[in-house]
Amino acid sequence: MSLLSVDDLVVEHRSPGRPAVRAVAGASLTVSAGEVVGLVGESGCGKSTLARAVCGLNPVTAGSITFDGQPVTPLGLRRRRLTGIQMVFQDPYASLNPRRLVGDQVADGLRTARDTVTSPADLLERVGLPREFAGRHPHEFSGGQRQRIAIARALAARPRLLIGDEPISALDASAQSQVARLMRDLAVDAGAGLLFISHDLSVVRLIADRIAVMYLGRIVEVGDTAEVWADPRHPYTKALLRAIPKPDGMGVLPAELPGDVPDPVNPPQGCRFHPRCPHVMDVCRGKEPDFGPVACWLHEPR
Ligand code: SF4
Ligand code: MG
Repeated sequence: MSLLSVDDLVVEHRSPGRPAVRAVAGASLTVSAGEVVGLVGESGCGKSTLARAVCGLNPVTAGSITFDGQPVTPLGLRRRRLTGIQMVFQDPYASLNPRRLVGDQVADGLRTARDTVTSPADLLERVGLPREFAGRHPHEFSGGQRQRIAIARALAARPRLLIGDEPISALDASAQSQVARLMRDLAVDAGAGLLFISHDLSVVRLIADRIAVMYLGRIVEVGDTAEVWADPRHPYTKALLRAIPKPDGMGVLPAELPGDVPDPVNPPQGCRFHPRCPHVMDVCRGKEPDFGPVACWLHEPR
């Protein structure tokens, strides 16, 4: 049984006087203990909304989320800390309190886990920082160091599922792969699952066992990382891969994705990718490819 199971999840954002926005529109995904799943896609595709729903931060409109055999429902902050799911956010500047010592902030997580043996300095050491950093304030550190502190705080609570919501996108290129690998190593060592959200496939490829590609609220392709990388099937996945800059530094390939992600208030009929798809067929405009592992009429399972 999977540690996390997201089934046909729908999450709508509602605000008075406005049409509902279906940010997640029937997405299914699993994460097993000790497994790293990379969730990729352009911004505005619903990745963060899905992650927040998994943490109990967004109400579920339809479908279900099961963690460790129990349904996930929206929770107050206090109980959320105890669920065994911890999230690391994009902006380490915003997620740490500037006025509190680093060690005290990491200690919050230890209290959650009722861990009286591990010290904040021990955890800083595990994330590759000097023990003395516990006695300093967040502003004394670089973005990469701050994100390591946020990871230490998350780990202190002994999560069984760690979620990184674009945890590397605010960091320098040099810190990005280091922080991504660190999250992977720490989660796998602890036997926890890791759901790693990023729009950067080249980094996700380094750490994920499986890749899930999200487009406009739906998972359009899931597969083993090496297979997706070598042989992407969905036209959207292909375009994402082609949009990655070449590692030889000889210039950036032009992004081959024409247009922007359409407005989720009014998604295209049929296949949501059809207005941008170079392979669009008649069936694509009329009928949504509602199947996996590749949700595309070119890859309909027999
Ligand atoms: Fe393109 Fe049709 Fe496949 Fe959608 S279903 S990705 S429009 S070929
Ligand atoms: Mg996001």
